[in-house]
Amino acid sequence: MKRLMILFLLFMLAAAIASADLSIHFLDVGQGDAVICTCDGKVMMIDGGRPESSQMIYSYLRDLGIEKIDIMVLTHPHSDHVGGLSAALSSCDTGIIYTPIYYYNDPAFLRFRDMAAERNLPFVMPLSGTSFSFGDARVTVLAPYKLFGDTNDNSLVLRIAYGTHTFLFTGDAEVPEEQEILGSGAEIASTVLKVGHHGSGSSSSEAFLKAVHPKIALIGVGPGNTYGHPALDVLSRLRDLGSEIYRTDLHGTVILTSDGKKLEITTERQPTGEEDVYTLSWAMLTGAAEEEHPPAEYYVGNVKSQKFHLPECEGALKMSEKNKMVFDTREEAIAAGYQPCGTCHP
Ligand SMILES: [Zn+2]
Ligand SMILES: [Zn+2]
Repeated sequence: MKRLMILFLLFMLAAAIASADLSIHFLDVGQGDAVICTCDGKVMMIDGGRPESSQMIYSYLRDLGIEKIDIMVLTHPHSDHVGGLSAALSSCDTGIIYTPIYYYNDPAFLRFRDMAAERNLPFVMPLSGTSFSFGDARVTVLAPYKLFGDTNDNSLVLRIAYGTHTFLFTGDAEVPEEQEILGSGAEIASTVLKVGHHGSGSSSSEAFLKAVHPKIALIGVGPGNTYGHPALDVLSRLRDLGSEIYRTDLHGTVILTSDGKKLEITTERQPTGEEDVYTLSWAMLTGAAEEEHPPAEYYVGNVKSQKFHLPECEGALKMSEKNKMVFDTREEAIAAGYQPCGTCHP
């Protein structure tokens, strides 16, 4: 049914895409990010969602008639970004792979790395501040400038400029990386922002959002996810800036097309009834989510970073005793103002 709807949507859009030169498909891959961009016959893919999204990625590329991905971008090696890229790699010729990292100890990443090696595709780390062309569009690399301890904060951040519009993709960058970007003095005001880290409260600081000042904000998030995404704070900051929000949990796949002047948006579905894009937070969905997410025995908070971890997470194991704060439940940790770790997703 979902596939039929997507096919219908693609059919409806075929004419629009044919006349528009840039298209950005922000795919509904549940909790994760996957973006397919086309520009003047060139294809760039940014992230591929979780491994479970592989079939969807494969079908979507086939339905668009894509046989070659000129530029493949892995923003960072977490499985909700790298997972479905292996499917893309196996079904399409690929020109170049950009990623900020060569090694990460996670099965989904290692599988992707092995597949890339089999195809003689080295990982290329683009330098921040440089740019490359993508059809008639220009893509600037905004980060990372320096490597942080947190994998999310090493996300490759790209800004696409096409005609009068700009599109900013931030991966899972959190506040420290946002500060780096702000400090670099790079131009970051953008028409469209792919909101960092699925709308998490550990990203999208007020200063960063103000500087970007997006007309349109895209959030890749699964319904009833247990990570606390998107955070109400982030949604209300975007509302205050007058940004229109599109969320994959409510809108499904979102497609933007532009001829360089006009910008058109089509969504797989429209939120109805109580589903308000600005007020429907994870908190209202946790009842459903808790069943899918068995509780851990306890959670370890870090009083300094204000993040909390599963007991077996490296973040908890390496934490110095004096920074530890133990919570019996994740709700307790969240009520105390702690954010879930981006690596162990407690
Ligand atoms: Zn993520
Ligand atoms: Zn991540």
